[in-house]
Amino acid sequence: MVKYDPKSLKAEEFINDAEIRATLEYAEANKHNAALIDEILEKARPQKTETGYVCHGLTHREASVLLACDLPDKIEKIYRIAEEIKLAFYGNRIVIFAPLYLSNYCVNGCVYCPYHIKNKTIPRKKLTQEEVRAEVIALQDMGHKRLAIEAGEDPKNNPIEYILECINTIYSVNHKNGAIRRVNVNIAATTVENYRKLKDAGIGTYILFQETYHKESYLQLHPTGPKHDYDYHTEAMDRAMEGGIDDVGLGVLFGLELYKYEFAGLIMHAEHLEAVHGVGPHTISVPRLKRADDIDPDAFDNGIDDETFAKITACIRLAVPYTGIIISTRETEAVRTKLLRLGVSQVSGGSRTSVGGYAGYTNEERPHDTEQFDVSDQRSLDEVVHWLMQNGHIPSFCTACYREGRTGDRFMSLCKSGQIINCCHPNALMTLTEYLTDYASEETKKTGFAVIDRELERVTNPKVKEIAAQNIIDIKNSNHRDFRF
Ligand code: SAM
Repeated sequence: MVKYDPKSLKAEEFINDAEIRATLEYAEANKHNAALIDEILEKARPQKTETGYVCHGLTHREASVLLACDLPDKIEKIYRIAEEIKLAFYGNRIVIFAPLYLSNYCVNGCVYCPYHIKNKTIPRKKLTQEEVRAEVIALQDMGHKRLAIEAGEDPKNNPIEYILECINTIYSVNHKNGAIRRVNVNIAATTVENYRKLKDAGIGTYILFQETYHKESYLQLHPTGPKHDYDYHTEAMDRAMEGGIDDVGLGVLFGLELYKYEFAGLIMHAEHLEAVHGVGPHTISVPRLKRADDIDPDAFDNGIDDETFAKITACIRLAVPYTGIIISTRETEAVRTKLLRLGVSQVSGGSRTSVGGYAGYTNEERPHDTEQFDVSDQRSLDEVVHWLMQNGHIPSFCTACYREGRTGDRFMSLCKSGQIINCCHPNALMTLTEYLTDYASEETKKTGFAVIDRELERVTNPKVKEIAAQNIIDIKNSNHRDFRF
């Protein structure tokens, strides 16, 4: 039997099937053990320190007990602590981004994705640099500052040189007051050398979804193409970190396998990164399988309902308190509203999942022909920004940490220092001012400026408050942009 070792660099040792099975048994046996559950909840709760808060997080075994627990009062407590952790480390800010699909050419056979090689009905498209520029202008005109680029895996059509050229183009476009200041990258597992090139191109987070941690299922769900190699895929984040990328983003595609198995695997992956590289994942995404061109989600047996989905998200929040949680427009407004109270810290807004879906199209007439999946939340970015504020959140377009070199463990230290209120908070308010001044509807502006006035009062350092207030006035009255702490 393969031995479990979080420090190993071998996929089957750090995502160890026997350990996951033992974890699920332990969780099932203890799911009504109220004393143990209380102990775990107590460990997860943020502890106040002289300067801020600390959290100890949970092991995959502890977190799996919480996920298995079906006692309503304990679930309520899990939800309350998830919100406490979110507020302690991220405040009420929610970071906003949009995906940009570069190419849907793909040589893989993933059975849940419409870009799979056997799909002969979906039109194949790859953006030229001129088209990338047009997409970026359209995204800047919406107000976006942060993108996640997406591409299928195809060494001929989408080689690393193409991805690097696109990143370069994206960063080079400055339309009116617009700028894309952080490009996160979601492309297939690659070599250390290519990760180094991505790092040198100035990417933010490298995102790669595991899809499923269950090796046998993984092999069946990815029957052909380079992605079939489970070990190469699962060990990708170690190569990314070896290539110098500090911020990596994990994720599971919920619906493919049994969620309790996936959850344990996900937390073990986070523990592995912490054990080997001294820093856990920067983000965890929680995508659920969606209808798409030739994909019917009902053909997969492991779909999860909204309540289970909420519980998974909250348990992730308790297990890895310093990791951002991302929820995309795969989810409806109602689900997103609920999850924002359970620890989510980033959302996409105004998203189109087709190649070339932004330039020249209104929100209503968005093209569907090359879409990767149906978008449930089809509201415009302006509507998303307004909705966030109405729900007590501050929409943030901030990219300061990565641009100031606060990545990896330096970001985690800021989180723990209690200085977020004097750093991230004013940064969020200044970038929100940029959005409101340059792009928002009158209604959103009215709500937003009132939020900014109120939230500025919460900055505790008088000097920081004074500088932020002056910068906000400057943004409103001039073309000066991109202030940051
Ligand atoms: N080709 C890259 C890879 O292999 O990782 C990039 C990934 S793809 C553009 C982004 C993600 O979309 C995939 O990792 C997958 O989890 C998700 N996805 C694929 N098909 C989906 C579907 N039908 N519904 C929801 N998400 C889907």
